[in-house]
Amino acid sequence: METILSIKNLYKNYGKVKAVKNVSLEIQKGNVYGILGPNGSGKSTTLGIVLNVVNKTSGDYEWFGGKLKDSEALKHVGAIIERPNFYPYMTAEQNLKLVCKIKGVKYDNIHKKLELVGLLERKDSKFSTFSLGMKQRLAIASALLNDPEILILDEPTNGLDPQGIHQIREIIRVIAATGTTILLASHLLDEVEKVCSHVLVLRKGEILYSGTVDGMTSKESFFELQAENTSLLTEALSEHPSVAKTAVEESKVIVYLKEDLKADDLNRYLFQKNVVLTHLNKRKNSLEEQFLELTAEKQ
Ligand code: ADP
Ligand code: MG
Repeated sequence: METILSIKNLYKNYGKVKAVKNVSLEIQKGNVYGILGPNGSGKSTTLGIVLNVVNKTSGDYEWFGGKLKDSEALKHVGAIIERPNFYPYMTAEQNLKLVCKIKGVKYDNIHKKLELVGLLERKDSKFSTFSLGMKQRLAIASALLNDPEILILDEPTNGLDPQGIHQIREIIRVIAATGTTILLASHLLDEVEKVCSHVLVLRKGEILYSGTVDGMTSKESFFELQAENTSLLTEALSEHPSVAKTAVEESKVIVYLKEDLKADDLNRYLFQKNVVLTHLNKRKNSLEEQFLELTAEKQ
């Protein structure tokens, strides 16, 4: 595994405001990371620090294993942390040519990147004629011109209509599929769930969860069961070593587990106890349920 960015015990105070408190994160090549948290939870501050536009209070971060100086390392990073801003009277292509000049990269990539974000046909349109979604897509193309190792996006779908949101998420998925590492900040649960493999959940600058998106959702798997005889069912369940507790909701029995249990093993066990199920559903808490639980614990 190749580490792209390593953040260790980062703190940031703005006067009395503790914006970031002891944040650590390891970013490995090829994954898609989300920093998820409500407004004001320290997402943009964290991104600003690693992009060297905000001064940290304490802690450390290191790009690419510390092999390069910050200024060199950041040449391999593509970032969009502000509203896209280009010259309004220049075309999409002219704007990207200018970015190439500033970054010192060849024009070769321009058409490929415009195609990736679905703007090749609009390359000769002036920036001022673009919708917000198209502006955001042009910003992504611009950030990718030098084929960065990692793409950093801060709230990439803010302010967009549903179609614009969908387009941006599809583009992020395509970029990730080509092996580019991605780090995105978002206050939207479904955004992180849809595009990220890993997630750091922040609240008031503190980490509530760090790990895979799957790990966050699968931690709390449970069963929904139904049988003709509910009391026989709950009695049999109470004797099972993997069952933590049961709750009857309407005619369904919800089974909370101490450890993972396969649906077929549970079904077989109950059948041996003369309980015939009419309904069996193994469910995981959605990221939303997990997120609400996590944030509620700390209230
Ligand atoms: P997020 O991006 O998750 O919405 P931010 O990182 O922007 O959160 O903000 C985290 C906290 O730091 C908030 O309480 C915010 O008000 C504060 N903050 C951010 N930038 C500044 C600043 N330049 N000066 C003072 N306080 C700031
Ligand atoms: Mg922000």
